[in-house]
Amino acid sequence: MLEYMYSILLMLNLLFIITGNHKVKGIIKDKTNEILLLKKENDTLSDEIINIVNLNLKLEDEVRYFKKVIEENDKSDIFIPFMEKEFGTGLIRVCEDGVYYHGVCEEEKQKWNKDNKCSRQIYEYRVKNNTRKNLDNYNTFNIDEFCNNCLLIKDKNKYKIFECQGHQY
Ligand SMILES: [Zn+2]
Repeated sequence: MLEYMYSILLMLNLLFIITGNHKVKGIIKDKTNEILLLKKENDTLSDEIINIVNLNLKLEDEVRYFKKVIEENDKSDIFIPFMEKEFGTGLIRVCEDGVYYHGVCEEEKQKWNKDNKCSRQIYEYRVKNNTRKNLDNYNTFNIDEFCNNCLLIKDKNKYKIFECQGHQY
């Protein structure tokens, strides 16, 4: 009778171990699936990171390209003379190292401009006379409109001479 009881206990014990083992196996299976899912997610995120890094490199290349285009445009697309309201209503007629100037330009070969001594100068006349020549070039009746960055260098009876100090974008 005692032996029979032991057998039953042993059977129950084994059953418990087997059931327990099944449970553990189930947990391991679940955890394995979870790990696989996380691995997949990790792979996807790694791919996304690679894509973002590549996109960033591409955008940096584009920025470099456009900076170059802008630099080249700055040099080649501006034809002198031109008017830039930001600098005044006078014509920009001189450009040196990216700085723009109003006034008498280097090509002015008149006798009164020997050795280009009047470079960048603007003449403001007191008396309005519509027959006055070179009004858009270096003669004006209103220096404040013509150039917003200049210095008075001569004050004569009929006119004042200003020198453009340069303008930059
Ligand atoms: Zn100026």
